Formats: sequence, structure tokens, C-alpha cells
Amino acid sequence: MSIGHFIDGKRVGGTSERRADVFDPATGRRTAEVELASTADVDVAVQAAARAARAWRDASLARRSAVLFAFRELVHARRDRLAEVITAEHGKVLADAAGEVQRGLEVIEYACGLPSALRGAFSENVSTEVDSYTIRQPLGVVAVISPFNFPVMVPLWFVPVAVACGNAVVLKPSEKDPSAALLLAEWFAEAGLPDGVLNVVNGDKQAVDALLEHPEVRAVSFVGSTPIARYVYQRGTAAGKRVQALGGAKNHMVVLPDADLDLAADAAVNAGFGSAGERCMAISVLVAVQPVADALVERIAQRVRSLRTGDGRRGCDMGPLVTAAHEAKVRAYVDAGVAAGAVPVVDGRDVTPDGDPDGFWLGPTLFDRVTPDMSIYTDEIFGPVLSVVRVGSYDEAVELVNASPYGNGTAIFTNDGGAARRYQHEVEVGMVGINVPIPVPMAYHSFGGWKSSLFGDLHAHGEDGVRFFTRGKVVTSRWLDPRHGGVNLGFPTQT
Ligand code: NAD
Repeated sequence: MSIGHFIDGKRVGGTSERRADVFDPATGRRTAEVELASTADVDVAVQAAARAARAWRDASLARRSAVLFAFRELVHARRDRLAEVITAEHGKVLADAAGEVQRGLEVIEYACGLPSALRGAFSENVSTEVDSYTIRQPLGVVAVISPFNFPVMVPLWFVPVAVACGNAVVLKPSEKDPSAALLLAEWFAEAGLPDGVLNVVNGDKQAVDALLEHPEVRAVSFVGSTPIARYVYQRGTAAGKRVQALGGAKNHMVVLPDADLDLAADAAVNAGFGSAGERCMAISVLVAVQPVADALVERIAQRVRSLRTGDGRRGCDMGPLVTAAHEAKVRAYVDAGVAAGAVPVVDGRDVTPDGDPDGFWLGPTLFDRVTPDMSIYTDEIFGPVLSVVRVGSYDEAVELVNASPYGNGTAIFTNDGGAARRYQHEVEVGMVGINVPIPVPMAYHSFGGWKSSLFGDLHAHGEDGVRFFTRGKVVTSRWLDPRHGGVNLGFPTQT
């Protein structure tokens, strides 16, 4: 099967000869090949979007909302189908894929009510018989570039908001799991979105570069690893575009001595190994403030040993990694951790999966006595590897978290409200959980990290999303009557 693009309301093939393989990670089998768009293919999509944007910006708020409501109904009714597609190409277990769809639906629902967020402000009589008001208008064509790990949720962080604000979109999903984005585009069309308002081009760096350089593209929302996010931000802004580029993460969960250790252990396992650790909000470092480490590690190990790794369609807890190359990379990190002297309390390299032996398997791995100089601590592994770092005090814990170049998410587990409040104030991270291990904000708040986890000023969805996909205009108006006549070259002031 060959997977192409969705341009101007229909599935199309491109001109490029280049292709990438798409796999079912639980069987290791190649299930399709995806076209990798050429610069000319991207241009066709952007031109379609530019044509559509001219009419869509003038569509009434009521009409735009009606399309979003209809789209919400379609996605909701077909959420199981979407989850199956995610599992078939990404590998995450079905229940987790269904959770991803649910979080995406929440952004669509937020976008259904966007007319209220687009309301401007009005000041009557800023000067005698002069009124002033602000309006927010769409940008035109915007690009969304998404990563493999949330093939539905991440596109839905941006696309519904961009469209509801009156923009036309070119979405470039990850070439590793391209099918879900095409379904979303088809369903949006079925919901009444005019042709060309949402286009999907599949591709790799060449397609990304073409979007970053295209003069009709006004803004770029990117999500992916930190080096590519930095590159996209620098190149996109140099080309004069508005860019928000969300990058990688290394999220710490601090456990204070007064915490409920069973709750903390449950949370660490859920957040460390859900989606095989392939989440930007996964907990990859557990900071145990002494004397809790021994008791906590024992509780976590007990739980990790009971996790069932296998095919996501068989009711297992944890699925495979996304590709053979990624599995090899994560495996190499586990080797490096052992070589550096960390203690592999549970070693995922020995896993016996409930699935095809050719799948990209690596079991959950728990390391104790990890130190900040080890590569398993410094690098974003993006796999089922949880590292426990032992520290002597709360201050040492905060210092460790704040020394990280990343600042996406963090959590603190404690029963001490004062300590939790101090942490939320002192920690240099964009999203903080207090006894909540994966603090992904709801759609009406904004999602985004600090430091090397986000380049740009505005976060995804919520108020920031609306600001990102619109630009403000201020109108000052006076309805003339003869009394207003006369020449005056002075600077206008209120009278
Ligand atoms: P990636 O950086 O490899 O790819 C992301 C996107 O960039 C894809 O569409 C890909 O085709 C494109 N791309 C890849 N190489 C490129 C290049 N050299 N030039 C231009 N574009 C290129 O990321 P991934 O492996 O797909 O996703 C995992 C990463 O995404 C992790 O680092 C994870 O933390 C991060 N992520 C971050 C968030 C967040 O909100 N901060 C959310 C999800 C994922």
C-alpha cells in the first residue's frame, strides 16, 4: 500500500520518487510505504491552502463552529477506528491510543466554542465621539509539523484552533505513522470544511524545509525533538515566520519523605512506562529524597515486574517501540547505564513479549543509583527506562531539576502543602503536577515547556493557541459630523 497526501479536498499522489517504509511495530512487518513530498508537492498544498484561506477567513464564526461541531461528532463516533490506526502504526496499546484520541477530542471541543475567545474589546469615547476596538484576524496559511508519538493528539493541539480562527493549514505528520492524519483530514472534509482549508503532506526534512521557506506560510507550529525544534525555530523565524517549536524533555518526579509511597509508586510506573516511555510528558527520572529510596524502589520494582509487554491489541500493559532503529537506540542506552554503574533493578532487555517475536520489543527497565553524569540521566531516551536518582534534601532535588536543560513537565509527590507550593514557585518547568505525574493541561489552558523544551513565546491551544493563530488589529473610529472639520497637525490626544 502506498500512502500519499491529502490536498484540496482529496487524496492525491505527489511527484516525488522518494518513499519511506511504515511498520506495524508489534509484528515488525512493513505494512505500507509513505510518499516523501518534494518541494513541488509542498508548493501544490500551500497554493491550495492559500486559495482556500481567502474565503475561509470571511466565513462567519457560526459557520466555522458548525464545521467543528460536526467534526467533533465524527471523531467521537469513530474514535475506536482512530485508536486502531494509531496502534497499528505507533504500537501503543489500544487503551492508551483511545486516551490519546480523547485528549485530541478535548481540543476540538474547545475550538467549537472559539467565537467567545475571539471576541475583541471595545472602548467607547476614547476621545470625544471617538471609539476604539480590537479585533483578532487569521494569519492565512499556517503549517503544523508533528512527531510520531502522538499521531492524533498533537495535530489536534493545533489544527482545530487554527481552522476555527479562520486559517488554512498544511499539516505534515511524522513519516513513521502517517495514516491517522489523513483520516482526520477526510473527516474534516466530511464535516463540511471547504476544500483546501486542511491539507496533509507526508514527508521528511525536505517537506519541512519547503514549508519553512515558502513565502505563503505565515506561521509554523512544530513538535518534535529538541535539535530539530531549535533548527525549525531558527530557520522559520529567519524566513520571517511566526514559530512555536515544542521540543524534547527529561521530566523529573520528586518524591518527598512524607509522600504516600504506594500512590507515588503507582504514579511513577504509569508515567514512566505508559506508551513505552514514548511521551514528551513521561517521567524518566525519579528523584527520591532520602530516606525514601529503598522503600520506593522496592514498591516500583514489584509493580514493574508485573507489567505485561506485548501486542497492543491483546490487552497488554505496554507495547513495542516504534521502529527497530529506535529499539536499538534505547537498548544501547540500557547497555550504557549498566556499563556506567547504575543498578538495573528490572532489566527490560530480557523481556518475553506477548506478541510476534519480530516486533520491536524492549521491556520496562528500572535503574537505581543513577547519577547526573550518566547518559541515561542526561539524554532524552524516549523509551521505557526509569532512572532513580537519590538525593539528601528537598533543596538538592530542586537544584537537580532546575539544572536540567529541559523544562517540559515535572511532578512532586508529598502530603505537605507548603512544600508543594514552594516547589511550584521555585521549579523552572512549564507544567507542574502536584501528586499528578503527567500534568498535561486541559484544552482551555495552554500546553508548553520552558528552556530547551520550547522555542518561541506562545504555548499550544487555550488562549496562547488563539493568540498564535491570529494577529491583533486596533480600530479607532469616528463618524464624521461637520463639527469635526479643521486642519490640525498636532499629534492626536484625547479631548
Ligand atoms: P523528530 O524531531 O524526529 O520529528 C519531528 C518532526 O520533524 C517529524 O514530522 C519529522 O518528519 C520532522 N523531522 C525529522 N528530522 C528532521 C530534520 N532533520 N529537519 C526537519 N524536520 C525533521 O521527533 P519524533 O522522533 O518524531 O518525536 C519524538 C520527539 O518529540 C521527542 O523528542 C519528544 O520529546 C518530542 N515531543 C515533544 C512534545 C512537546 O510537547 N514538547 C510532544 C510530543 C513529542
